[in-house]
Amino acid sequence: MFQKHASRPFLIAGPCSAETEEQVLAVAHELVPLGIDLFRAGVWKPRTRPGAFEGNGASALPWLRRVKAETGLRTTIEVANANQVYEALKFGVDVLWVGARTTVNPFSVQEIADALRGVDVPVLVKNPVNPDLDLWIGAIERIRNAGVTQVGAIHRGFSAYAKSKFRNAPYWEIPIELRRRMPELPLICDNSHICGNRDDLLEVAQQALDLNYDGLMTEVHCTPDQAWSDAKQQITPFTYGELAGRLIVRRETTDNADFLENLENLRHKIDEVDLELFNLLARRMRLAEDIGRYKRRNNISILQTARWNEILEKAFAQGQARGLSEEFVEKYLTAVHQESISHQHTVLHAGAGVRFRD
Ligand code: PEP
Ligand code: MN
Repeated sequence: MFQKHASRPFLIAGPCSAETEEQVLAVAHELVPLGIDLFRAGVWKPRTRPGAFEGNGASALPWLRRVKAETGLRTTIEVANANQVYEALKFGVDVLWVGARTTVNPFSVQEIADALRGVDVPVLVKNPVNPDLDLWIGAIERIRNAGVTQVGAIHRGFSAYAKSKFRNAPYWEIPIELRRRMPELPLICDNSHICGNRDDLLEVAQQALDLNYDGLMTEVHCTPDQAWSDAKQQITPFTYGELAGRLIVRRETTDNADFLENLENLRHKIDEVDLELFNLLARRMRLAEDIGRYKRRNNISILQTARWNEILEKAFAQGQARGLSEEFVEKYLTAVHQESISHQHTVLHAGAGVRFRD
């Protein structure tokens, strides 16, 4: 379950919300020929502000049972508490998912996990709304500890205060680190909730496949503009078919000896450059320490904002000329600057008892 197929990712699609019986059946029938693996629909909808459509609740569950009976599609819904788990299982929902607003709360996740004890139904765990990898992993562990053997993760992006083209910032480094820590865990990208619009859905889906994700979860609605929730990001089954058809699926590796040898050579060169960069960084830190000693003798503070601004401005231009994005240059220099400050700190206080405790 949840793993990608030889020629395409594992595909989950369906409307944001189950609005009416006709609506879910219509979209499900249109999705069948596209060969999706799992049909999604929200039954209990967590909404940020009160007053919006909060789902039809348990009364929508027979509609999903009918989807399965008529189309053969397996179904998945979000559950946020024990009662929702019992209701979903009573109506034969095949896969449950834990939503982003639930993953943040260990009490709720534990309640869901306890309700699942002895019922080995597959579960997908969305990332929490806040960018906290341990919280995401903790929720996965709670579900697994309840004896659920088929667990996967859904990356749906993270809340950020800063304005960006995305509804939820992808912070790709978080799912990449999840992959490193849990290499066997199937990973699915919810491109709809990352994007919050229709225009970037393909780009984000492709980015996920380029990172070797197993699958995609995408919101599909027959009349997206009239959708009762998340209208801006939903697409028609036709557009979804086009999107799925345009995805480039890559393999993680190959046994082609030439390819492997060339790759090995290039990786070796990269390792050499990385080592060179470390040597240069060490040299930079020695210089920072010299400055620290000098400042100590003259009783000058470490942080000098004007100098820091000057470094950043110069680096943006130098980075741009070398094909390095402003975002990267800023992250890189901030890290280097912090390390320099910490080296200067050590030098500035060497032998002086400024710590309250050790
Ligand atoms: C959803 O999938 O419709 C949903 C509410 O998602 P999230 O938990 O990612 O906000
Ligand atoms: Mn939605």
